[in-house]
Amino acid sequence: MSASIFSRIIDGEIPSDFIYEDEHCIAIHDINPQAPVHALVIPRKPIRMLVDAQPEDQALLGHLMLVANKVALELGVGEGFRLVVNNGESVGMTIYHLHLHIMGGRTYAEQSMG
Ligand code: AMP
Repeated sequence: MSASIFSRIIDGEIPSDFIYEDEHCIAIHDINPQAPVHALVIPRKPIRMLVDAQPEDQALLGHLMLVANKVALELGVGEGFRLVVNNGESVGMTIYHLHLHIMGGRTYAEQSMG
């Protein structure tokens, strides 16, 4: 199976500005934001989707959430944001490489995605 667009971004094949990176994951702005602040936290490991994560991924999954905290704070929405993980085509997943959506910048009632 060919590499996902996120793997190609991680590998530098597709240029992208990283908001954050470390040895386990990167964070980038979503190209088609659904909220005033909409970023993605993406593990370097190409787990296809959440349901494919294994017990050995436990620390990585926790790390992604802590990075989401950091990124939300850095983007000025630390006091109010949502994390969304789409799992499967039926809920609108389009890129089959696990990622966390960080969405913030407006009130819950105004949010339309998820
Ligand atoms: P999902 O529907 O959960 O698979 O979300 C995939 C997300 O990736 C969507 O919100 C897209 O807007 C976003 N996206 C697709 N291509 C890129 C890209 N090159 N850079 C940043 N975000 C992207």
